[in-house]
Amino acid sequence: MSASDFDLVVLGAGSGGIAMAIRAARHGARVAILEPGALGGTCVNVGCVPKKAMWLAAELAEMQQIAREVGFSLTPGVLDWNTFIARRQGYIANIHVSYRRRFADLGITLLHERGVFLAPNRIGIGDRELNAAHVLIATGARPQRPAIPGGELGIDSDGFFALRACPKRVAVVGSGYIAIELAGVLRALGAEVTLFARGNRLLRPFDHDLGDTLAQAMRERGIELAFDSRPVAAAKDPDGYALSLANGAAAPGFDELIWAIGRTPNAADMGLERMGIALDTGGHVVTDEWQDTNVPNVHAIGDVTGRIALTPVAIAASRRLADRVFGGQAGAKLDYANIPTVVFSHPPLGTVGLTEEAARERYGDAVKVYRSRFRPMLVALAQHEEKTLMKLVCTGPDERVVGVHLIGAAADEILQGFAVALKLGARKADFDATVAIHPTSAEELVLM
Ligand code: NDP
Repeated sequence: MSASDFDLVVLGAGSGGIAMAIRAARHGARVAILEPGALGGTCVNVGCVPKKAMWLAAELAEMQQIAREVGFSLTPGVLDWNTFIARRQGYIANIHVSYRRRFADLGITLLHERGVFLAPNRIGIGDRELNAAHVLIATGARPQRPAIPGGELGIDSDGFFALRACPKRVAVVGSGYIAIELAGVLRALGAEVTLFARGNRLLRPFDHDLGDTLAQAMRERGIELAFDSRPVAAAKDPDGYALSLANGAAAPGFDELIWAIGRTPNAADMGLERMGIALDTGGHVVTDEWQDTNVPNVHAIGDVTGRIALTPVAIAASRRLADRVFGGQAGAKLDYANIPTVVFSHPPLGTVGLTEEAARERYGDAVKVYRSRFRPMLVALAQHEEKTLMKLVCTGPDERVVGVHLIGAAADEILQGFAVALKLGARKADFDATVAIHPTSAEELVLM
């Protein structure tokens, strides 16, 4: 056995692991990063990046329809998946190249292997060992399957990104981020889609107005929403996939079945238990506010920790951790409050801060809500009825804005700046004092 010494060994080259490796190396640390799979992890390979590409294709499909309705002489075309996927994968390949270049520039050692803890400061890879002053667990998560008969049938989001053609009739199970996004893309690209939600609303943790407005938009696009419909069994016969539901109903005849019911942390078979590293009941690595585990010099970030499972959160937490451990910034840590997030639905939606429901629970009668519901210009020109919704949740005598919730065209791009305002503690009066940009949808946020 040969031993190598590093200041930092990172387990997992997803967005969080890579961000930590790069920032630590910039601070002068000797870094090794271990990744048996593709560089960039879920986000780059089977998450945000290919999803956004598919969403853009779906937007183009919708825009062709609208263009025809407002007077363009065109017949909306059908997407050639192979052409588009070649472009999508080319984009991803460029990201891989840029990571490799940055690793080389910064002297980061990349090992395409799986690491296992031999000791808290010793990682085994095959027949070699790496000594590490610090270890970062950044191994991410993977799609979950239900523990029901037939739960192994069909595909999950990883399988969605392996599709090479649009399936005709699709069952999507779940009503969170992934279910909503995949259902929307498939519908816009021509599939007949039924979404099975076990509860009675979409995006349960979000502001209810967003979930309700989204449900209407999805129905208007022809997506069938089956609420109170939890699958208890799945089967496949010559007619396709069939679901049996807890409410007694049967749902047969699907060409594809997609499970989107949450994700499971990749925390097994790494020797974590042997090291005494604490896991929660869901198998996530437990971390404190500094991203430290209960074992000294072993840290964890990203989806494996079960904290807000968003790429930019993992990146931000990693950079601060590297600044603290290797950059001499003793107080550096991520503030997990008021993190903005977008669901790439059709239309997209975005949210930051407290939902109206959470604000009322916390602040009671001190809450005041401002809403604007309107048809954006293009929707009106196309003579569609779909409304954009913008909502401010304010509290206290000075009406501090504690929640911004948007659904409608460009909500994904509008939210970021308003998230800065909320983070700075803006009041409704500050919104009022800002002159509108006309004619836009965003201006409604300062005109309520
Ligand atoms: P989510 O937690 O968002 O949603 C899981 C969904 O599955 C919920 O609707 C839940 O229902 C439902 N569910 C759970 N168990 C079952 C079951 N046994 N039968 C039927 N339904 C079930 O997880 P996702 O998998 O959609 O996404 C994982 C995470 O990835 C997200 O939470 C998000 O952090 C991240 N992500 C972010 C994206 C973005 O930023 N745009 C895009 C995609 C993913 P219920 O509501 O009743 O609990």
